Amino acid sequence: MINLTGKNALITGGARGIGKTIAETLAQHGARVILCDIDESIGKGTIDEFSKKKYQSDFFQVDVSSFESVSDTVAKILDKYNVIDILVNNAGITRDQLLLKMTESEWDQVISVNLKGTFNFCKALYRHMMKNRGGKIINIASIIGLIGNAGQANYAASKAGVIGFTKSIARELGPRGVCVNAIAPGFIQTAMTDVLKDEVKEKMLAQIPLGTFGATADVANAVLFLSSELSSYITGHVLNVSGGMVM
Ligand code: NAP
Repeated sequence: MINLTGKNALITGGARGIGKTIAETLAQHGARVILCDIDESIGKGTIDEFSKKKYQSDFFQVDVSSFESVSDTVAKILDKYNVIDILVNNAGITRDQLLLKMTESEWDQVISVNLKGTFNFCKALYRHMMKNRGGKIINIASIIGLIGNAGQANYAASKAGVIGFTKSIARELGPRGVCVNAIAPGFIQTAMTDVLKDEVKEKMLAQIPLGTFGATADVANAVLFLSSELSSYITGHVLNVSGGMVM
């Protein structure tokens, strides 16, 4: 049984979708969960729901793509809670378009949230985790960062960047006892994938050996494992949670 009692976990994009299920799963295993998300009303709604379930939780409104706003928010969180043991960089967006039509803004937005957002939180907590000589960082990438996808050059580049970034800081922080890993989800049913056309979904399904789309809990369970002592000798790894879509 995994027990995270006494651990503080910060989850970006934790107000809904995969991030919310990650937060709920870590909370069910005893962690205090600190959600960082862009929409204040959705974030507060999630926290209300969590407190009714007696989870220890808090919400901070932040745009992950802003370096200053992330450093200020992390400083406030550390003032209030002293320690962050687990950091999950989950906030992410898509702005899908063939490169032929992709605008500079669509490129910049996706890189700023998915890749720079991950940098911003790791940078803000780097010294803290180094000094603590322990901690877990889990970055949510995507199988698209491994295999590419027509119409998602910006998203694929951001997620491939997250994977390279993860492996680099795993090497830097390993000697300090901090484990840094990435998870590469396949097709997980959330608001992000609900918008896809049925024909796109059918094509995806045909490529999944396990024959179904993933649930947010599939990703959350992988995060739980990588947050726990069960994974203490694993760092710099990319764990595919894709039903075998990528092997
Ligand atoms: P989602 O349902 O859209 O949730 C993403 C969360 O991140 C939302 O709460 C969103 O807030 C928040 N967010 C967006 N921009 C932000 C910003 N600038 N600052 C702070 N928070 C921000 O997406 P999801 O499907 O759960 O995806 C979660 C992660 O998994 C992403 O990194 C995604 O790339 C990755 N992933 C998902 C799938 C999939 O199949 N769903 C597959 C592979 C990887 P608002 O919605 O209020 O803007």
